[in-house]
Amino acid sequence: MVDGVAALARFVDRHPRLLVLTGAGCSTPSGIPDYRDADGSWKHRKPMSFAEFSGSPAARRRYWAGSLRGWPAVRDAGPNPAHRALTVLERQGRVVRVVTQNVDGLHQRAGSRRVIDLHGRLDVVECLSCGARLRREDVQALLCDWNPGFEGKGGARPDGDASVGTALDGFRVPDCPECGGVLKPAVVFFGEGVPRPRVDECMAGLCAADALLVVGSSLMVYSGYRFVLAARERGTPVAVVNLGRTRADAQLTLKVAADCARVLPALVA
Ligand SMILES: [Zn+2]
Repeated sequence: MVDGVAALARFVDRHPRLLVLTGAGCSTPSGIPDYRDADGSWKHRKPMSFAEFSGSPAARRRYWAGSLRGWPAVRDAGPNPAHRALTVLERQGRVVRVVTQNVDGLHQRAGSRRVIDLHGRLDVVECLSCGARLRREDVQALLCDWNPGFEGKGGARPDGDASVGTALDGFRVPDCPECGGVLKPAVVFFGEGVPRPRVDECMAGLCAADALLVVGSSLMVYSGYRFVLAARERGTPVAVVNLGRTRADAQLTLKVAADCARVLPALVA
């Protein structure tokens, strides 16, 4: 790991303005589980798609029942040394943007200010019809009131979903208080695109950066991988700190195969 830290330090010295892209591996040391194992394959069943969620009340009951149990683990998680090290890099003026695939808000809680939540935020709920936005905590309180006995942790996943049984016919899901529309966490579901203005903001960050630094992502999801492709097209160097294999391993300037919560603090120390 010492070699990896030294190589990364040289990379950061040579490229003083970084676009940082973070993935699930940046939040696993905070106790938020990863979707994928070291080979990039699914650890659990695939997350619910947008089509499934929006198309069926039964799917929404299943989602919210799991989410009711999974949310407290995300809400109660705190930033880890990787988040804090990125905050230090930002204060040193080395970070153009932190683009995160995580929906937990932990970069902001660690003190990072230049964050773009690529896949949205789990602490916000929005109405698919009128766009009203609600605090997740308020929706959680309703879910708990209406569905006593469903609380409790266990089986949490990064999207706040959790495994639940199938006896959900009586499970009650709140509708939008403004218009009665369908409520959905303000996160990008599988099968749903990242809003174009958000992608453009990230690309503008990449244009202003000397290099792309990927932290804790296998880059298996295209929404993150596209920044590696864009960097390559521009001739922008790419470094990755990730424990496992990534989709971009053949295209990297530098790969540090280690835990980002150990490497990044050593880098800024
Ligand atoms: Zn509404």
